[in-house]
Amino acid sequence: MKKKFINKKEAKASIEKLSDEFVVIKNPSYIHPEYEVVPLAKKNQKPVKHLSAAVMDMDGTTTTTELLCIHSLEFMVRTFSNRLNKSLWKGLDEKLDYPNIIGNSTTKHVEYLINKYSRYLKKNDVIKSFLFAAFWTLFFGKDSQRKLEVIGNLKQFNISNLTDDSFLNKYKSNKFLDEEDKEQISKYLFDKYNKSFSSLAFNDFVRLGIDVYYQRYHEILERIKIGEGRFVAEELFNDPNKHLIESMPGMSVFLPLIKGLITEQQEIFFNYLLENHIRRTKDKFSLKQIEKMKKNFIALCDYFAKRPMKTAIVTSSIFYEADIVLREVFKVIYSELNHLLKDSEFKTEILTHFKDYNLYYDAVITASDSSEIRLKPHRDLYSIALYRLNIPKEKFNEVIGFEDSESGTIAIRAAGIGLCIAVPFAQTSGHNFKAATYVCKHGVPEVLLKYNLFF
Ligand SMILES: [Mg+2]
Repeated sequence: MKKKFINKKEAKASIEKLSDEFVVIKNPSYIHPEYEVVPLAKKNQKPVKHLSAAVMDMDGTTTTTELLCIHSLEFMVRTFSNRLNKSLWKGLDEKLDYPNIIGNSTTKHVEYLINKYSRYLKKNDVIKSFLFAAFWTLFFGKDSQRKLEVIGNLKQFNISNLTDDSFLNKYKSNKFLDEEDKEQISKYLFDKYNKSFSSLAFNDFVRLGIDVYYQRYHEILERIKIGEGRFVAEELFNDPNKHLIESMPGMSVFLPLIKGLITEQQEIFFNYLLENHIRRTKDKFSLKQIEKMKKNFIALCDYFAKRPMKTAIVTSSIFYEADIVLREVFKVIYSELNHLLKDSEFKTEILTHFKDYNLYYDAVITASDSSEIRLKPHRDLYSIALYRLNIPKEKFNEVIGFEDSESGTIAIRAAGIGLCIAVPFAQTSGHNFKAATYVCKHGVPEVLLKYNLFF
């Protein structure tokens, strides 16, 4: 295109040239225009000859943290409507709500919920919940960007700096606030500041909802970080033994594989992967099939040992969250590999790569690298990843992308990647995966065992 300003007809013709397949991406309510029409890369369905990079989502694809995000969104609706326990409200609907609250930006998730549950929201409860979230973020939060946003929201309602309040300051040294503290603080804040809030419009509900969501999620992450995961698991899921942050099935095999790290003990890795797959799917294989899968797996190990892939995590979570989540999940992978492998020089070597996620990934792209209004399903985070990995456009066909949500799969294809694998799990199985090149509902083990990584 040479001309810069074009008429409607020329615009139509120029867009047509970009692709045969398009997607409509709706923007948050405060953005012009209402939606964008985005060209998608052609699906790459031919068998793969070379793969040079893997770009992967974090929550729900690499890690199990999606459950914590869902909990935090549900908590926001509960406190806003004062229906705190299951007998008052059974909670979010898996079929109707989950497709709208997973994989997109937090703004879009909160907008959806505020809209859907608007008739239950009670102004006083919204204010009370927000004020506590604002207090916690300013006094206990660790993310500076979040603090700035909370300060901005407080200013909107003419609330002067909460951090100067002597009543609140006495809680500053508390390591952890129990329910009684929280109730006391909430009541104090509400009585003091509630009059500052006149009427609340839809946009206000959304802004306050975002602060409440982040506060809840970050409080949980902080507790996991200081080793209180068991207590949180008991409180939230009535199960102290539930690991809140784990790797998704097959990741402890897939990650070392694509980096070319599995140069010995291939059979141990293969058996581990196969057992994991059979345990979850109840699939039955003949001995001949198993032999063939093993041969393919070992061939992949050899291929990547010669040509390790570049790897990137691409997440709509902010850096603060991704950092905690990835640290935790790499601890889990490290310990899985430590148990799995036989003592050897090889084992010592492979473990060094999983001591820290920064040693493993070539790029970690988070929402903090972009803007809230350009998160998935927009292409930006994936485009940044391709740039950081130094993959030129003509090599985009050597890139494979993994996502567990509709928005994520659209973002991969919108970034020009034609090999887009959906790995849905229980909570995202209701998503529309039309954008995905392949849908592997049994996750990465299926990608390796059944599809041989599409080679
Ligand atoms: Mg996800």
